[in-house]
Amino acid sequence: MTAEVIVDIAHSEVDKIFEYTAAEGVKEGCRVRVPFGGRTVDGYVMRIKEGSDFDPSKLKAVACVVDEPLTAECLSLARALSARYHCPMAQVLRLFLPAEMRRGAVRELYKNVAVFVREAEIPARAKSQAAALAFLRERGRFPYTEYREKFGDGAVRALLSRGAVRLEKERVNRTPLRGAAEGAPRELTPAQRAAIAAIEGSEKGEHLLHGVTGSGKTEIYLTLIADAIARGRSAIFLVPEISLTPQMFAQLRARFGDAAAILHSGLSAGEKFDEWQRLRSGEAKIAIGARSAVFAPVENVGVIVVDEEHDGSYQSENSPRYAAAEVARLRAAYNGCKLVLGSATPSVETYRRAETGEIGLVELPDRINARPLPEILIADMRREVRRGNNSPFSAQLREELETCLSQGNQAIVFLNRRGFAQSVVCRECGAVVKCAQCDVSLTYHSEEHCLKCHYCGASYKMLAACPECGSVHLSYTGTGTQKVVGELKKLYPAARILRMDVDTTSGKEGHYRILKKFADREADILVGTQMIAKGHDFPAVTLVGILDADMSLHFSDYRSGERTFQLITQVSGRSGRGQEKGRVVLQTYDPENYILRFAVNYDYKGFYRHEISLRAATAFPPFARIVRVMVTAEEEKKAVETLKEVYFSLKELFETRREEFLFFNRMKAPVKRIQNKFRYQVLMRLKGDDLLPEIYARSLAHRSRDVLVYVEEDPANLS
Ligand code: ADP
Ligand code: ZN
Ligand code: ZN
Repeated sequence: MTAEVIVDIAHSEVDKIFEYTAAEGVKEGCRVRVPFGGRTVDGYVMRIKEGSDFDPSKLKAVACVVDEPLTAECLSLARALSARYHCPMAQVLRLFLPAEMRRGAVRELYKNVAVFVREAEIPARAKSQAAALAFLRERGRFPYTEYREKFGDGAVRALLSRGAVRLEKERVNRTPLRGAAEGAPRELTPAQRAAIAAIEGSEKGEHLLHGVTGSGKTEIYLTLIADAIARGRSAIFLVPEISLTPQMFAQLRARFGDAAAILHSGLSAGEKFDEWQRLRSGEAKIAIGARSAVFAPVENVGVIVVDEEHDGSYQSENSPRYAAAEVARLRAAYNGCKLVLGSATPSVETYRRAETGEIGLVELPDRINARPLPEILIADMRREVRRGNNSPFSAQLREELETCLSQGNQAIVFLNRRGFAQSVVCRECGAVVKCAQCDVSLTYHSEEHCLKCHYCGASYKMLAACPECGSVHLSYTGTGTQKVVGELKKLYPAARILRMDVDTTSGKEGHYRILKKFADREADILVGTQMIAKGHDFPAVTLVGILDADMSLHFSDYRSGERTFQLITQVSGRSGRGQEKGRVVLQTYDPENYILRFAVNYDYKGFYRHEISLRAATAFPPFARIVRVMVTAEEEKKAVETLKEVYFSLKELFETRREEFLFFNRMKAPVKRIQNKFRYQVLMRLKGDDLLPEIYARSLAHRSRDVLVYVEEDPANLS
């Protein structure tokens, strides 16, 4: 037999099938070791066939089988994705095998256990030997290290040499958060039951679950998953990384115990390895995790859930630049199972698909137990400034904060962006201090008294003088989370304040630790950025302050209105989830803005109708597709040259298919340099998807060792 093998080398020159003769036991989906160019490398068996297109006597043989990590579905999905994104197969296969699984860096963990074998004659004076043997007779087996600690090294050794006790190796499962179980399944409300019946009973495969914040969507997901398990199938549950909270884990463990495997960036390599193995072996049937969990090695999938489907983190920013929902759709089709996309603020694209009947629409317009949605008060910051208030807080917000704290409740203060505009400006010449590697301004961090670049992470010593003119009159503009915390401490010295942003959440436990503290009521006010907007359920929070609601309206991006609506709705949704009614103070310099008006009234449909007609009139997604071809290189000249080649190759296409194009041009990217790489782009707006394969092929043909070329579809970020 012949095996078609992809070698695990992500390089376009070896991106093809190599044939090897295969003995019995080499199966499709196996990882094998094969001779390759004078050495032995890992490879994956894509296909087994009779005979070969080559002279069989010239073929080398597969050296050995390592394991069998890829299911038949994985192989079929990998082929589809490689074709769709013009991505080398070896690179696509890496999606299915996290780094921990490759190169043998992590292995199964074994530990020694002491096992009772038989009785033995023990001298009367050897009291601890007798006790140790009696103990093991009772237990049968016991962890070896603890056993030795308990009874002493000498006694245990003696028992081993007498043959009364023997050592065995036992596989240890590094399953994270085993103990974290609380809360039983709830009795579903009639609305929840109706939603589940509508999804499970529909002949449509895909549904949008549009439910306001606090409408009980999570319980619906969990029931859909439990139903799939009861039918003997498996499930995939995708959530944004940031929603993988302590409460979420506790709920999942309580409901599904060890049947749930959690794939989470905060896990250790060993934990990831074991969770992945438990899914592959079928011991665990539910894969829960962020974007990459869509590649979980579960078979016979019975339902796929994508929570907060509008979230930008579902779009991969590394090659292949896949959208998780698109992969989920392929998997749902392969398995013949339901795909459920849930959100309080669906993306305009998804809602459009529901509206036109392409997918089903299930709605939950009310919160659980008819709890009211929080009231959103608008604070006009223009008036505050006129009154001479230069602090980040309006009078209204201060008043509400006082009430909230005096009643012993918790508050969330939300800032639109981490350290937004917290940059350093020279008051003499107006120069803004920029990163040496990126074309972006640096942000001042008062705690470390340094300047940081939020694109590449570089950190700089605080400047004493302007690098342009030497003036010592430097000033800081804007408001960052640190500054807000400082101001709050002055106003409410007794309040305990937590801060959550990219700076405080790096490290293994990251946001998990901060959210747990807040949930355990070890703090009164949580100050944060985008990260605190999503999915969290803190029943004691009765006030949310949004400091700069319009910040995201000013981005020159067609999605900025949509993002602002989503953000306000999501952040507001954190308030009043418990017994008490919640309030929100929304600070803005633009109180008449229609997006804010719709958001204040929780009028998603009003917002959607307005937005969709705007998109139709201006020919933006979902009525068109934006495609950007990025060309980046350390040498500006090389980037420019390659851009030219890409541009002219695409221009041929443009000229023959003009009717497909709404826009076509080349230019510098808005941020001209990131991490020392110059960035140039060809930007296109297309009427449909027909030309996509051709665009990929023509663009990627110009990749080289020094120049990176990649294609982005409807990119979330056009910087
Ligand atoms: P969503 O995901 O739609 O924002 P959640 O799933 O977080 O909403 O539910 C909101 C609140 O309602 C949570 O505190 C949850 O525990 C509670 N809840 C959900 N379903 C029920 C139910 N059937 N009975 C009682 N409480 C429920
Ligand atoms: Zn200056
Ligand atoms: Zn930088």
